[in-house]
Order: sequence, then structure tokens, then C-alpha cells
Amino acid sequence: MKDYYAILGVGREATQEEIKKAYRRLALQHHPDRNPGDKEAEERFKEINEAYAVLSDPEKRAQYDQGLLGAPEFRTEDLFDLFAQVFGFRTGRTAPRGEDLEAQVEVDLEDLLKGKEVEVVYARLVPCEACGGQGGRRVVCPTCGGKGVLESYRQGLFGAFVTRSTCPHCKGQGHLLAETCPVCRGRGRVAREERARVRIPPGMDENHLLRVPGYGNLGPGGPGDLYVRLKIRPHPHLEREGPHLVYRLKIGLAQAALGTRVEVPGLSGPIPLEIPPGTGHGEVFELPGEGLPYPGGRGALRVVVELSVPKNLSPKAKELLRAYAKEVGEEVAPEGFFERLRGFFRK
Ligand SMILES: [Zn+2]
Ligand SMILES: [Zn+2]
Repeated sequence: MKDYYAILGVGREATQEEIKKAYRRLALQHHPDRNPGDKEAEERFKEINEAYAVLSDPEKRAQYDQGLLGAPEFRTEDLFDLFAQVFGFRTGRTAPRGEDLEAQVEVDLEDLLKGKEVEVVYARLVPCEACGGQGGRRVVCPTCGGKGVLESYRQGLFGAFVTRSTCPHCKGQGHLLAETCPVCRGRGRVAREERARVRIPPGMDENHLLRVPGYGNLGPGGPGDLYVRLKIRPHPHLEREGPHLVYRLKIGLAQAALGTRVEVPGLSGPIPLEIPPGTGHGEVFELPGEGLPYPGGRGALRVVVELSVPKNLSPKAKELLRAYAKEVGEEVAPEGFFERLRGFFRK
């Protein structure tokens, strides 16, 4: 026989109030919605509910204390019913799920090569422990008698008929708050910091949202979902274009004309690239398979050539360029032309 007192962490002389308090704390902590995929937490949650089902019932507790109780069997739905009952959730299809939430995580471009497990820190609404999610002390709504709906009989042309409307007094809740819980101010839920571990898949698109089931706000009908938005930190050299990467390669006049060898900073390391003689501004060299992964392949790394024209030339470099211009027959401004022009306008 399991030690139900140890499972709830209470003494053998614990009062009903103490047992309930311990149960609330542990059931919230080990609820499967808060620990998706965690088999251990699920087992703990079952044990906690089993322990509470026995110890909260004075008759069963007395039998258990005397060693007369056989191992009770619970169906999973019963456990959730018990949880809902203690936390004041109304079970059934009408109970609304908690709201979905959105959170953002930042990763580096490099992380998208293999994917990455990240921790998302966000706030979500959970049942207020001070009032057990009730919002305070509840009383049955006197207007609708707890039904949440009002029925009235009308006489129509073809006989009497019934109209149903939401009770305006309790707004369909069936109860009113006699005393408001000071912790949640009657809302029944409080915001709490949560952490969720999610796996960013390789090459994930920034426009997609990653769904984490059960990590949204907790509502009477269960939790909503968390949607994780991806943000990529700016990379010092590379830009993303879908599955492709773009690198802007700056080369000089002579390099463009005579050709050169460069190293492109790829995502997984430097890649040697030959720039042939006569390469023009805006020309693109595509390196297939050096982009980001996508289902069934990998994008390309596109090297876009940007010709950088020198601005502050030394007298020697100027002289050589003039000689070059003369050789190929390009007409250039005579020496000192722009200095004289500026001097003229200053006068
Ligand atoms: Zn009402
Ligand atoms: Zn409260």
C-alpha cells in the first residue's frame, strides 16, 4: 500500500484543510499540462490525486489508516474531474479553454543550421492558489438560481414557446462573489512566470509560429497553447533570404579588373572563392548547399559583388590611374581641376 501521507507531504494528524492545501500545491505543480511529455510528472499527478481522493474522504481515510482499504482504481478522467472540482473549474464541454499566448525567442543565424533547444520565459495566468481559482467566496446567483440562464414563456401566434437568455446578474456564471479574493482581485487567476523548453527546428522560418500545446493560460476547460515566434539576431556578415544566405563582398577596382581569390565567411566556416577577371558590380556567385537547411535540402549562399571605388587616393595611385586612363583612352578631369573649381565658387 502506498504512503498517501508521504505523497502529499503531510503528517498523519493533518487536518482536512492541510490535506487540501498540500493537494492544491502539488496538483498544480505536477499537472500534465505543465509538464508535457514528462511521464514521471504524470505518474506523480496520478499518485497525488489518488492520495487526495482517499485522505479527503473521512470514511476512506479511516479505513486506510487501519490498513483495511484495498488499492483504489481511478480512471484518468476521474483524476481530472477531481482536479477540476477542487479548483472550482466546471467540467464539461462548455468550460472555456485558457487563452493562447505568444512569446518570442531570439537565436543566432548559426543556430538554424542544426536547430536549437531554447528556454522561453513568459508569463501566463494560472489558478489563484489563495482562493483555489474561485475568485473569492461564491454564492449561488439568486436571479437564475445557479443555472446561468433565464427562461421565460411567451405566447406566440402558434402557441407558447420558451426563450432562454444569459442571466444578466451573474453573466451566465451561475454564481456571484460574496467576498473578493484579495490576491487575484476576484479574477480567479494570477500571472506567473513560466519557462518552456522548445526545440527550434533547423532552418525555421521567421514568419512561422511554433506551437507548444498546453503552455497557454490555464482556463476552466484546460490550458490554451503557447505560440513561439522566432527572431534572428543580426549577423555581422550574412543576411537571410528564405533558405538562402546573402553575403555582400566588397572588392576593389583592380581586383574586379584582374580577378582575385577571397574567403567568404560561410555559416559553417570560411569558403574560398575565385573572382574571375572582369567581374562587375552586382554580379552574383552562388554557392549551392551553403545556405540554411529546409526539408529535403539546403539553400545556397549568394555572394553579391559590390565594387568599392577608392575615394582618397595617394598622389602615386592617382598618377598610375591617369596613366591607365591614357592607355585605355578614357577621358578624365585634368589634375587639380576640382580644386580650382571649388576655389572659383568660394570667391
Ligand atoms: Zn444568474
Ligand atoms: Zn484568488
